[in-house]
Amino acid sequence: MGFIEENLKNVEERIHRALVRSGRRREDVTLIVVSKTKPVSMIQEVIELGPRDFGENKPQELRDKYELLPKDLRWHMIGNLQRNKVKYVVGRAVLIHSLGSYELALEIEKESAKRGIIMPCLVEVNMAHEATKGGIGPEEAVGFIHRIAPLTHLKIEGLMTVAPFVQDPEENRSCFQGLRNLAVDIDRENIDNVCMRHLSMGMTGDFEIAVEEGATMIRVGTGILGERNYSL
Ligand SMILES: *Cc1c(COP(=O)(O)O)cnc(C)c1O
Repeated sequence: MGFIEENLKNVEERIHRALVRSGRRREDVTLIVVSKTKPVSMIQEVIELGPRDFGENKPQELRDKYELLPKDLRWHMIGNLQRNKVKYVVGRAVLIHSLGSYELALEIEKESAKRGIIMPCLVEVNMAHEATKGGIGPEEAVGFIHRIAPLTHLKIEGLMTVAPFVQDPEENRSCFQGLRNLAVDIDRENIDNVCMRHLSMGMTGDFEIAVEEGATMIRVGTGILGERNYSL
């Protein structure tokens, strides 16, 4: 068994145990394999093993991999997205997880209208107010979503967060609970064109806690494909 197969098996077992602990089903959680910086050959290896959802954080890299790989893969834009790069992502990604500004929403609206599609998006929430991270503060989320809801070529389908880097993943439990509670609050507002069916939360270090706290999508890179080398 190659290392990817072994890692994937291990991650699946950990997901399974977290699901059992929380009384949830495997189909309630999508595993997104974060393939940023990793070559197409590695993604092909993953495809052989089953997964179809991949996460990228650079628009051009997403575009290039999309063009090179089978069209039944589902690409997720999970990283900081600049307005001038929206054109690489709309029409290729199935979901933008990192919507965190009104200007970006306007650009996605414009590009999606041009292509005649509706782009599903998650609002990125910076739960711990970390200066180094994107996303809006939790207290701004309701107002922000009211403001972008009228844009008809994008659809808000939930929330995403990148939790702080911690030694003990338990420390992030309250962050995940906070995101879920926020989604419940937003749902109660009954905003047209907005639904809260997705919570994208949990990475290699803390996905089990995220699954226990209701994640519908987890984003796992290192735990499946190994350490990334950014100098390549
Ligand atoms: C890189 C990245 C991940 C994956 O991180 P790992 O710790 O390697 O699992 C998940 N989410 C986002 C937004 C990322 O940029």
